[in-house]
Amino acid sequence: MPRQAYVNGRYQPHSDAAVHIEDRGYQFADGVYEVVPVYNGILVDEDLHFDRLDRSLAELQIEEPMSRPALKLVARELMRRNGLSNGFVYMQVTRGVAPRDHKFPKDSRPALVLTTRQMKPHSPQVLAEGLKVITVTDQRWDRCDIKSVSLLPNVLGKQAAAEAGAYEAWQVDGDGMVTEGTSTNAWIVTGDNKVVTRDATHSILNGITRITLLELIKAEGYSLEERSFSVAEAQEAREAFLTSSTSFVLPVTQLDGKPIGNGHPGILTGKLRHHYMDYMQTLRKSA
Ligand code: PMP
Repeated sequence: MPRQAYVNGRYQPHSDAAVHIEDRGYQFADGVYEVVPVYNGILVDEDLHFDRLDRSLAELQIEEPMSRPALKLVARELMRRNGLSNGFVYMQVTRGVAPRDHKFPKDSRPALVLTTRQMKPHSPQVLAEGLKVITVTDQRWDRCDIKSVSLLPNVLGKQAAAEAGAYEAWQVDGDGMVTEGTSTNAWIVTGDNKVVTRDATHSILNGITRITLLELIKAEGYSLEERSFSVAEAQEAREAFLTSSTSFVLPVTQLDGKPIGNGHPGILTGKLRHHYMDYMQTLRKSA
């Protein structure tokens, strides 16, 4: 069976799935999304993702397209149809279809799209060598905590990274402090082995991987600081890594062309990746 997508109530072949040209997501980026990782057939931390989706929708006053149990069923049915066991489910909700006019339409219904994508495990080379990251100016708005589909600065940052032969761009605010990557959260480990990541304010997306890893770090008793760090501090750090639903925990070994620490993936980073992978192994299927 060809890959399927779910679009506004119907399962359709992914290749022909389409939304209306006056969908407000298309015209105004008036919508939000979620990426829920699927690991060995299990939707990882799905309730945290649904909580964040609800929050993003509420912040933009977009109605929930369906109840959470119904949305969970659609996600599972699409996974079943697509034979997905490792990868992710992408969900997007927009304010719906209406004649183009900036203010909220009176009677549109939210539009819902779900797709899935298969993913291969990260290459041994990435794990052995770590990733290159560059820095770019953070050009985004003041509500980066909302998982909006308006991602132009992120797109430009990721493109700049790709053109520099890097995997990610860490965005830097007006005070020279790193906010986060374009699709990942940014972390360093200091010379005295403190794990540092920016506190979850409106300046970053509070990653679900970030939230879970913070819990694992606390449970393991590592020292932790949720605070901003500068590019200079990152350059001097012992280790660095990034997290996301598709990266899990990946080592960063170069920032703006300079090695971080000894230029190899850090020991603590490796341990944290293992803790996270072990955590995903312990998750059980829920209906
Ligand atoms: N920051 C940004 C800007 C992102 O787009 C993402 C990925 N959606 C993340 C952080 C990581 O979030 P998560 O761990 O929920 O994938």
